[in-house]
Amino acid sequence: MIDEGYIKFALEWIDSAPPTADEVAQLREWRRPLYAAGLIGHYAELNIGYGNISVRSRDGHFIISGTQTGHLEDPDEQHYARVTDYDIAANRVRCEGRIRASSESMTHAALYELDPNINAVVHVHSAPLWRKLLNVRPTTAASVAYGTPAMAEEFRRLYRETVFAVDGIAIMAGHDEGIIGTGHGMAEASERILGLCDDR
Ligand SMILES: [Zn+2]
Repeated sequence: MIDEGYIKFALEWIDSAPPTADEVAQLREWRRPLYAAGLIGHYAELNIGYGNISVRSRDGHFIISGTQTGHLEDPDEQHYARVTDYDIAANRVRCEGRIRASSESMTHAALYELDPNINAVVHVHSAPLWRKLLNVRPTTAASVAYGTPAMAEEFRRLYRETVFAVDGIAIMAGHDEGIIGTGHGMAEASERILGLCDDR
């Protein structure tokens, strides 16, 4: 089931100034090849966007793509939100900007919590890559729903027990077509994902 696009946690949004152009520069640069490859985009039949990206910001927050921006060719800072606070156990996220943060912000938060060296998260969708890599690369349990406190615990397990901590790639069994890439920055996280396409 495609469960993209709806929010499974309490999202508090303060309509305020967007992130700066500088803060979204790496996101914009690396979104282009991801979008061109169809890894971020829009399910026309469902009318929902898929794929979302974020970077850790200097103040300890993170900047993430806004909700329902997958169809846009080159979104700018107006289409990114700053996540200023979250509580995984309480299932609550607070964000600021011109747009609400992605419905998958909680998952990004859980990934940043794994390791201070994770500075970027790229979440994409690809049916062929997902089918090929499911249970081949580190894979979350199918019973764990995406964007929930249980998923945060599942990422911790993968990070402890598999090469996810080394190569930054995880397949989401409970989230059709969903793949996660993490890295020290947007370049590394994006190249790890784009590298999966090379040996497709
Ligand atoms: Zn997704």
